[in-house]
Order: sequence, then C-alpha cells, then structure tokens
Amino acid sequence: MSVEENLIQVRSTLPIGVQLVAVSKTHGDTEIMEAYNTGQRIFGENKVQELLRKWESLPKDIEWHFIGHLQTNKVKQLVSYVSVIHSVDSLKLLSVISKEAELADKIITVLLEFHIASEESKFGLSLNGAIEILASPETRRMKNVRIGGVMGMATFTENEEIIKSEFEQLRSYFQQLKAMFFADDDLFCEISMGMSDDYPIAVSAGSTIVRIGSKIFGTRSYGNVQ
Ligand SMILES: *Cc1c(COP(=O)(O)O)cnc(C)c1O
Repeated sequence: MSVEENLIQVRSTLPIGVQLVAVSKTHGDTEIMEAYNTGQRIFGENKVQELLRKWESLPKDIEWHFIGHLQTNKVKQLVSYVSVIHSVDSLKLLSVISKEAELADKIITVLLEFHIASEESKFGLSLNGAIEILASPETRRMKNVRIGGVMGMATFTENEEIIKSEFEQLRSYFQQLKAMFFADDDLFCEISMGMSDDYPIAVSAGSTIVRIGSKIFGTRSYGNVQ
C-alpha cells in the first residue's frame, strides 16, 4: 500500500474532531510529500536536527509537532519551527520553552507528558508532578506557552485491557487537571494518545490527537535517516 492509500485508510477510521499527527521520523522528503499531497499538513518528529532539516526543505505551511524527549539546551533552536511540543515533563523545560518563545515572539502550545506505561522510563510526569507544575506561580506567569492538554504512551503489549486502562488513566488525569486548573479555559482540551498499533483503543478512550507513523509510512529503518 502506498502512503496515500495508508493515509486514506487511517483517516477513514478516525472520528471527526480527532487530529492526526503523521509521524514522519526517519522518513524522507519524498514520502512526506506524498502525505502532503494527500492533504496532510501536521507532521510529528522526535529529533530536533531532523525536524529542522525537514522544515528547511519542505513546504512552509506544514505544522510541525515535536513528540520526542526534549533537552533544554535544544529548545532555542527548535522554538521558531514548531507549533506544538507534546513532551513537556518538567517545570524547568516548560520555563525554558516559555523564555525562548518570548524571545522568538510567539506562543507555543505544549502538552504535559505523563508516564502511564508499565515500562521503566525516565520521562513523563505523575499526576502529582503535573499538579506541582501547574500550581507553581512561575507557570502562572508564563505568557508564551499555552498549556493545551496531556500526552502519553501505553505499554508495548498485546494485552488490550492493559492498554485501555492506561489510556483511561490518562483521560482521568486530563479531567482532574481540567477541573483543578482549567475549568474556564477551553484551550486546555487535548489528549494526545494512540499510535499505529493502539490508536483505535485510544480513540475509544477519548483521544483528541493520535500520533501515527508506521501505519502511514511503513516500518522504520533507522538506516535511512538522511
Ligand atoms: C514514533 C512515535 C510515534 C509513532 O509510532 P508508530 O508506532 O510508528 O505509529 C508516536 N508517538 C511517539 C512519541 C513516537 O516517538
């Protein structure tokens, strides 16, 4: 199946209102342009250098989402080229994004990344960690970040019950934070969850953004990173 056929197939299974981020990491400009020519404008990358390279050579109406772990020392380079950062998991990172966005004179939408999977991971917040960030006076002073919602990745498993309960956990975190901090703020509205193998479960659990790579572009071979 071609990228175009894959995209049409994936889109046909997404309810209206669920945004599709086409995860193009490791894939080249030709494949990305195939998706672009099918109308896709939102692409996701997880490496700063790779995103910058693609921004440079591809059409400027693409909306780039950063979905990978982000080091604070890379924020400055990235900030002008992305519209959404899905992977904020510390106050420090949020604060650097806010400062750099201010210098670049823009407002960046960020999502708080949660650790919901059973696998060990250094990345991702707990509910208390997120509450600490949102309750902090420093966060409330930030003018150049718009906290748009939450993001998470489920355990890599065939067990759909586990995946479902992790996605429901993330939705419950979203609802609790919404009630505590964003009751009057319609911009806190996104739940970014669901990848190629688990997005139908994520969508039933209330996902508003799915991040799909291999189901659109085929399996990744890390050898083709240009
Ligand atoms: C790679 C990646 C995806 C897409 O994964 P697929 O299984 O190829 O759909 C989604 N989210 C994040 C954070 C990723 O790193």
